[in-house]
Formats: sequence, structure tokens, C-alpha cells
Amino acid sequence: MKTVLVTGASRGIGRAAAAAFAREGYRVCINYHRHRTEAEELAARLRAEGADTLVLGADVADAAAVREMVRQAGGVDVLVNNAGIAGQRLFTDVTEEEWQHTLAVNLTGLFHCAQAVLPGMLRRKAGKIIALSSIWGITGGSCEVAYSAAKAGVIGLVKALAKELGPSNIQVNCVAPGVIDTDMNRALSAADRAALCEETPLMRIGTPEDVARSILFLAGPGGDFITGQVLSPNGGFVI
Ligand code: NAD
Repeated sequence: MKTVLVTGASRGIGRAAAAAFAREGYRVCINYHRHRTEAEELAARLRAEGADTLVLGADVADAAAVREMVRQAGGVDVLVNNAGIAGQRLFTDVTEEEWQHTLAVNLTGLFHCAQAVLPGMLRRKAGKIIALSSIWGITGGSCEVAYSAAKAGVIGLVKALAKELGPSNIQVNCVAPGVIDTDMNRALSAADRAALCEETPLMRIGTPEDVARSILFLAGPGGDFITGQVLSPNGGFVI
């Protein structure tokens, strides 16, 4: 049985990904930071469906906490680096602290998690790392400068790592979603949503399950000859 570690899995895309992996028969390690109850509820629901789950608390911005989480997980075959934070603000209003925190969670979190799982993957000469970027990491998002920079950094890290780890049979890819219906976008007004749907060729906002299917594809045999790539479930919003 393969083990997947999904960071930030208490809700949203991470939660949908954890559920999708459980249904595919993976052992699922559910990481949470602040939402322990939600993570435990998810684990209980998946266990009731027959899945093997483990709930692990850690702030991905904290290297020591991430190392301890990975030690408790045991061998990790697939890392889904999903934990992330966003925030909308004019660039001139962004504080140094907000900038550092956005990079620490979205980008340095990937550095910590990848470094922690890699010794095991290198020993086994097999592994898959899937990191959540964003369309804003590709195109840049107005009023989301720190987030866009962090998510562009994720793409750079993934591409470089894919080259370094290819000879060890470790695939490293990005999933860069468009606008997805999660708590991250709860501030969107009905008018914003309607405008987004109108601008999207597939005429809707994405669901966490849409993204989970892309992640699952890259983690499975479909992803065996894919590395250093950016798969963007965005409904055609970015073409
Ligand atoms: P969400 O806010 O619903 O979930 C984010 C998850 O990350 C939560 O479980 C949260 O507790 C966790 N998290 C936050 N900080 C953490 C930390 N320091 N350590 C561990 N966990 C932490 O958001 P979502 O929409 O599900 O986003 C998931 C990923 O997808 C993020 O990386 C996000 O940037 C990316 N993404 C989302 C969208 C979207 O429109 N929702 C679009 C593109 C990319």
C-alpha cells in the first residue's frame, strides 16, 4: 500500500485530495496546522469507508515540526504539498511580516516538506512530489503580489528539482489551479463569481474535486513519464 502525505488537508483542495487518495487505496497522512477537529473528522469518515489514515499536526513553515511529521508518517511515497495561504492587498500596503509569512508557508513550506521526504524516496529510488502552485504563479495576480511570487517560486523549485531527481526516478510536478470554490475564495461576492464564470471558457468556478483529480493523475501511473511540468485545472481561464 502506498502512503501519501497531504499537507493542509483539513479542508478545501487538500481535503478533497486526501479523500480521493483514500478511495484509490492509498494510506493517507492528513496534515493540519490549526484545524485539528476538521482533520480528525475527515480521518474518521475515511476510516469508516475502509481507509488507513493518520492525522499529523505541523506548521509547514517550521522545519523541525515538518521533520517530526514525516518521521511519524513513516515512508512517504507521494507528497502533496498543498498547504497554502493567500491574501488580497495593494502591494504598497503589504508589510514585511506578511510578505515573509506568505513565502514561508507557500514556498519555504515546500522546501521543508520536500527535504524531509526525500531521503526515503532516494533510498527507494521512487517517489512523487506534487506541489500546489496557482494560475497567479504563472500570470501574476493583481493585489496578490506576495502570493504570486511565492507560487512562481514553487514552479521554479519544482522544475529545478525535477531535473535533479529524475535520475532517481522521482517525479516532481506542479498543479496550478484557477479559481476554486474553497474557503480561500470565501470573500468573493456573487458579482465577482458571475464575472469569473463569464471569463472562463468552461463557464464555472472549479471544485476541490476537479483539482484532486489532477493531483491523483500525476501521483498514479499516468504521471510516470511526466516531470517538471505544470498542470493547470482552470477551466480555460488561462490559455
Ligand atoms: P484553504 O484555505 O481552503 O486550505 C488551505 C489549507 O492549508 C488549510 O487546511 C489550512 O489549514 C492549511 N494551512 C495553512 N497554513 C498552513 C501551515 N502553515 N501549515 C500547514 N497547513 C497550513 O485553501 P485551498 O483553496 O484548499 O488551497 C489549497 C492550495 O491550493 C493552496 O496552496 C492554494 O494556494 C492553492 N490554490 C488554491 C486556489 C483556489 O482558488 N482555492 C487556486 C490556486 C491555488
